[in-house]
Amino acid sequence: MKRYFILYVLMLQVGLCGCAQRPHRTDVVYQVSTIGALAQGVYGGEITCGELREHGDFGIGTFDRLDGEMILADGTIYQARADGSVRTPDDLVRVPFAAVTFFTPDRTSILGRSFDLEGLERALDGLLPTENIFYAVKVEGSFQYVKTRSVPAQDRPYRPLAEAVKEQRTCEFNDTEGVLVGLRCPAYMKEINVPAYHFHFITRDRRAGGHVLECRVEGARVAIDEASEFHMVLPRGNEFYRAQLGEDAQSAMERIEKAGDKKAR
Ligand code: ZN
Repeated sequence: MKRYFILYVLMLQVGLCGCAQRPHRTDVVYQVSTIGALAQGVYGGEITCGELREHGDFGIGTFDRLDGEMILADGTIYQARADGSVRTPDDLVRVPFAAVTFFTPDRTSILGRSFDLEGLERALDGLLPTENIFYAVKVEGSFQYVKTRSVPAQDRPYRPLAEAVKEQRTCEFNDTEGVLVGLRCPAYMKEINVPAYHFHFITRDRRAGGHVLECRVEGARVAIDEASEFHMVLPRGNEFYRAQLGEDAQSAMERIEKAGDKKAR
């Protein structure tokens, strides 16, 4: 019996050492739920903020009950709420949708010219080797203009996202330092995440931010992290199990993501 116990302890130690020494897989996008489920109103939090940070130090998402926009930057989760406030939520706050990674830039650049959001996205595209993998994108600098939105917390029964964003509150920033935290997903991911770019903004002092609708930036410092692995964690429970997924998520998401964007494409 004692021999078995010692063997068990040894195995446990080997297991623990193995975990401790295993490096983070840095080129993995770790995603909670699908954008299609969020569009259908699956806002119940799945994993916690604390668990999410075990899978990345950079990314975007939202919170339980759709309570604000998530910006994960330098390992800290910020919650930009519809009332304009930004807070760092407790590790136990739940997350219904997010995509994060460990940010290890593969390429950096300074974009000398002045760009609006559409121009910035085109300029970023020019830096990419392919449109068929994932990218985490950080754009830092002095923004002449940024327009963001956030959505107030929803109550059950949850309405679809297209309805919820009608209550969005927008914020406008002029001549402010900050960072765009973004993800670029391949077009073929359209039912899983937002195709192409999706940016959230947070000011350098981390006091304001949200989902980006418009911006203008000059001399931006750009860092791009290529990711060719994708790990998805799906919600458990009836709200996800009963959601009508697989519809034309792309056109619905374009309406939602660009709602309030005067230059909607
Ligand atoms: Zn967003």
